[in-house]
Amino acid sequence: MDLERIYSILPWQLQNVAASAEGWRVKRLQFGGDFPHILKEAIDRTFWPLEKIQDYRNRQLRDFMRHCYETTPYFQALLRKSGAIPDDFACLDSLRRLPVLTKHIIQEDYTAFLSNRIPSKARLPAHTSGTTGAGLRFSTTREAVQRQWAVWCRYRLWHGIYPGTWCAYFGGRSVVPLSQDRPPFWRHNYPGKQILFSGYHMNENNLNYYIEAIRRFQPPWIHGYPSLISLLASHMIDKKLDIGYQPGWITIGAENLLEHQKKLIFEAFGVKARQHYGSVEAVANISECELGNLHVDEDFSAVEFLPEESGCRYRVLGTNFTNPAFPLVRYDIGDVVSLSDRQCACNRPGRVVEDIDGRLEDYVILANGAKLGRTDHIFKDMVNIREAQIYQTEPGAFTIRVVRGTHYNETDEAMLLSETAKRVGSDTKVSIEYTSFLKRSATGKLRQVVSQIPHGRLDAREAT
Ligand SMILES: [Zn+2]
Repeated sequence: MDLERIYSILPWQLQNVAASAEGWRVKRLQFGGDFPHILKEAIDRTFWPLEKIQDYRNRQLRDFMRHCYETTPYFQALLRKSGAIPDDFACLDSLRRLPVLTKHIIQEDYTAFLSNRIPSKARLPAHTSGTTGAGLRFSTTREAVQRQWAVWCRYRLWHGIYPGTWCAYFGGRSVVPLSQDRPPFWRHNYPGKQILFSGYHMNENNLNYYIEAIRRFQPPWIHGYPSLISLLASHMIDKKLDIGYQPGWITIGAENLLEHQKKLIFEAFGVKARQHYGSVEAVANISECELGNLHVDEDFSAVEFLPEESGCRYRVLGTNFTNPAFPLVRYDIGDVVSLSDRQCACNRPGRVVEDIDGRLEDYVILANGAKLGRTDHIFKDMVNIREAQIYQTEPGAFTIRVVRGTHYNETDEAMLLSETAKRVGSDTKVSIEYTSFLKRSATGKLRQVVSQIPHGRLDAREAT
């Protein structure tokens, strides 16, 4: 029997013990050893002048390219083929002579990306799964994990969240067995100071228990997927429930924070949701400052922005110079951002991102054959919709699956149809299907668009 299976048959009290044991292991990995020193160095770099931080990044990049060339079969072959030497890569622009690296290339031969300088006992297994389910396994090291956590802790400290702050966590981990139909739908990780709420039990019948639990525990900080936190928020608004206190912070990660989710969260909790963008592959990190602007963490990885065909959005490419075990150079993470040309008054160096559009979704194919890549604008002002998802099986027609809020009525339906028509044109057929819960992906995330048309699917696009 594997550990997950054993966990699932334990009584909930023992699951708390198991969650805490795992929490203790993770805490040691993330924050033990040299971590305080790594964190201090990261904090010291916060307000470095632009030139100094760029120099730092470029030096890291050049050393890393040498490491790739000397120790990693894939990059050895690639650099030889391109006629480049490691010293040629001393700035972001110089990376353009190399091709973009996709997940598919890595999946074809995972071992070609393992650096032979990192002994196998120092390698930690890691994996990520995309929204389409195409997973990626790779390796990392303890130091690489800690350098990433240093950047995450630094961002939290900007907002006053100190390590050791109790957190209500709404994520994709299966902490409560699916068969359980009575509370508690949460488990405690005491060493990590987390109340782990299940994202898989948040249906109409159970949401009151979640609200009660938050009212009882009063965690100062709520963190997790925006699709889950806003689900809670809209339930509170609909049922006129409150949690009896105002949390100090709400932070979100792992999914795009959509405009209507921001509004719902603020209305229900009275707190502005803060966001950061990161990836397990450590190729890019973007953090929100106190003034609400999104800053590229230039000292963490070498981030490039590649213009999309439309010209106003950019794909995120990154080089993970903090992870010597599994180098990724110009890796296309599959996310999109809009850039800002403003400087932020907070004086942090580096580029400012206007908006994190997040993970690319499947495309909606309109009657005229056009592909619509971003659909959340349709739902921006639909405050009475709890959740929505677009489902498409043939070009030129699609269904919007809607979970209604309590106050949803015909006016909302008419508004939804007219907002949609404004964006997709009247020749695309749109129907609405009402449902009580939208199915999540294997990692608990909510997809905005699910397409059954081969060329509308994101994985089809990745393969090209
Ligand atoms: Zn700022």
